[in-house]
Order: sequence, then structure tokens, then C-alpha cells
Amino acid sequence: MAADIRVGHGFDVHAVGPGDHVMLGGVRLDAPFGVIAHSDGDVLLHALCDALLGAAGLGDIGQHFPDSDPGLKGVSSLVLLARVRGLVEAAGYTVGNVDLTLLAEAPRLGARREAIAGSVAAGLGIGRDRVNVKATTLEKLGALGRREGLAAEAVALLVRR
Ligand code: MG
Repeated sequence: MAADIRVGHGFDVHAVGPGDHVMLGGVRLDAPFGVIAHSDGDVLLHALCDALLGAAGLGDIGQHFPDSDPGLKGVSSLVLLARVRGLVEAAGYTVGNVDLTLLAEAPRLGARREAIAGSVAAGLGIGRDRVNVKATTLEKLGALGRREGLAAEAVALLVRR
């Protein structure tokens, strides 16, 4: 019998707003703007949470953490990721690997990419070699290309324990 493996995909976007930093993968990056969000607006972690929930067949991040919940205002998305990890593990799965892509003109990840991958790996309790972080610009096309927002996609593979 084939191994019980499941794939999930996630997408998230947040509009750019006033501020001086953005959170990406649980890491703070200085920026001449912020993002508008109920939580800390970490698009990488929100996309990742949705990929994990999707793979486990557990719906989406909005069902588990509604933005109408005052208890989640300004919450670190690492807290959301920890809760999602708990749900996934309770469902009998362990994370095989995750692949994250930031879609934004800015900020450029540069030297922070390694810190982000390490943060995601720590948040998931998996090895650094199971996390890949990518980034692409939008070639200045569309709303994201005009720096009106940040978006991210994520793919996660779960393996039944
Ligand atoms: Mg979000």
C-alpha cells in the first residue's frame, strides 16, 4: 500500500498600509510601509497555515481564527501556526516538507531568507532541510507590482504517522 501522504495549498494577501516593518515567516523585516491586518499580517505564515489545514482536510485559517475574534487582534502568526500544527498532529499527520513563495516587489528577502526558513522550521518542529523559501517580484504588473500589497503561496506535504 502506498504511504498515506497528502498535499495542501495555501494563498494569502494583505494590503500595504502605514508602518515601518512587515512580518514574514515570523521574522521582522524593516520596510518603509506596513500591512493592514487583524493579526500581524504575516502572509507567509497565513499561506502556510492554509496549506497545512488544506492537506489535513481541516478547512481554512478563517474558519479556525476569524478576524472578528478580538482575542486574535495583533496576534503573532507564530501562535496561529502553533495551533495549526497542533490540529495537524492531532489528526495523525506529521509535516513532510513545505515550500513557500513570497510575491512582492518589496521587501527583498536577501540575507533574511535563512532566518525566515529557520523560523518556519522551528515553528513546525521540523528540520531546516524540510523548509524552502522562495520569492518573486511581479515585474511591476498589477496591484502587487504597484506595491499595494504583499501575497504568498504555500504548498505543504503531510505524512500520516
Ligand atoms: Mg492573512
